[in-house]
Amino acid sequence: MADAFDLVVIGAGPGGYECAIKAAQLGLKVAVVEKRDRLGGTCLNVGCIPSKAMLHASELFHEAGESFEGMGIEVPKPKLNLRQMLAFKDEAIDGNTKGIEFLFKKNKIEWVKGEGSIAAPGKVKVGGRTLEAKNIVIATGSDVARLPGVEIDEKTVVSSTGALELDKVPGKLLVIGGGVIGLELGSVWGRLGAEVTVVEYLDNILPGMDGEVVKNFTRILKKQGFSFKLGAKVTKVEKQKSGLKVTVEPAKGGDAEVLDADVVLVSIGRVAYTGGLGLDKVGVKTDKRGRIEVDASFKTNVDGIYAVGDVIAGPMLAHKAMEEGVALAEQLAGHYGAVNYDVIPGVVYTSPEVASVGRTEEQLKEAGIEYNAGKFPFTANGRAKANKTTDGFVKILADKKTDRILGVHIIGVGAGELIAQAVVAMEFSSSSEDIARMCIAHPTMSEAVKEAALSVTGLPIHM
Ligand SMILES: Cc1cc2nc3c(=O)[nH]c(=O)nc-3n(C[C@H](O)[C@H](O)[C@H](O)COP(=O)(O)OP(=O)(O)OC[C@H]3O[C@@H](n4cnc5c(N)ncnc54)[C@H](O)[C@@H]3O)c2cc1C
Repeated sequence: MADAFDLVVIGAGPGGYECAIKAAQLGLKVAVVEKRDRLGGTCLNVGCIPSKAMLHASELFHEAGESFEGMGIEVPKPKLNLRQMLAFKDEAIDGNTKGIEFLFKKNKIEWVKGEGSIAAPGKVKVGGRTLEAKNIVIATGSDVARLPGVEIDEKTVVSSTGALELDKVPGKLLVIGGGVIGLELGSVWGRLGAEVTVVEYLDNILPGMDGEVVKNFTRILKKQGFSFKLGAKVTKVEKQKSGLKVTVEPAKGGDAEVLDADVVLVSIGRVAYTGGLGLDKVGVKTDKRGRIEVDASFKTNVDGIYAVGDVIAGPMLAHKAMEEGVALAEQLAGHYGAVNYDVIPGVVYTSPEVASVGRTEEQLKEAGIEYNAGKFPFTANGRAKANKTTDGFVKILADKKTDRILGVHIIGVGAGELIAQAVVAMEFSSSSEDIARMCIAHPTMSEAVKEAALSVTGLPIHM
């Protein structure tokens, strides 16, 4: 039967498309329902990929203006062609989404275009068509979290989606929320000339990250021109004839102040998206934050219905969604599949980058786990000195008794790539000594990881 499948996945983001591809590779007949006119979900269309294209282009623009001269490269002051920069970003989206289309064809996965709803276990409705499915995977992802009373028009009051499309550089950009997305997009527009103010409800940006990293990173961002209003909340955004008036109050109460802004970016997080699925009808349970409840095998309370990615609990990250999608596909095809939630890296793609995996010092202290910490600054790393990219450090936390690595935290140029070696080490349950004894190419930023490992129980060479 044309409409009978082993697996129907709803949502073609990283969780859904990787689940579909792996399942097809393992021999299942797969269809993916996606309502966007392009595959790849939030990540490829309005998330990871476009934001990284804008971060890359804006960083080079900034470098050309600020650092080239010191390196003996004499070029006229760079001029921004924002329309072309946005086209560069759109090309990145196009190339990546078409890549997924190609992979679907290659693996004989049918893309069923439209909004999918679950009519009953084993039945997915898309328009006038009903797909029969031995198993259904919900991978419908997440949506922007809204701030009550602040209406997003995607023109002057924008979500991350609108912030990737601004047709001119705002004079003043006010970012609500000091999380990863706000800091990344704040960096983009800051490098292109906006004055950036971040209002964060908590007393620190990047909640959940290692405290020492956050302190240092805040200092670096301030040096780059960011202003922070911490422990503060936005209570009102009013449109004026020209610009916006933003009312900010101390989170713990006190006098309000009114700030001017040309654009306000609302980036206070994301919420699980299950709209239109008809979960009530089939009785799939959600938690109080609207996330679909699943067991360790990604199964919901209804037989034959599973969920992965942003729509379930856990960090809202593309690679977490991908791992879940693949592990579930393996299980559905009769193989072993699992996700190691203790070793999921997180990266902030600013300049310098911030990357971490495993536990922070605060988490270890709270859990009463004794640890040794080894730290090495990039100011003492030859490559960083040569490139004048000395901001930041590598910190390794290892169990006091066994020396097993429990967490790695890095601020530095290329931290998002450096963290991969910490992921490998932690997956293999390495000790800090294992890393300290490895031969690392010289001169590289990676040597700072080895030196941090050397300092866990002894002394680094270059300090
Ligand atoms: C600006 C920004 C930057 C980000 N940067 C990063 C980053 O650098 N690294 C990182 O790891 N993560 C990043 N993320 C987060 C990342 O995008 C998400 O974690 C990831 O996309 C989640 O994947 P998913 O498959 O669960 O869902 P999504 O990517 O949200 O995909 C879900 C898909 O389901 C579709 N859908 C929903 N309901 C239906 C329905 N009923 N029928 C048919 N289709 C439906 C949607 O149209 C969507 O395409 C970023 C997010 C944003 C917003």
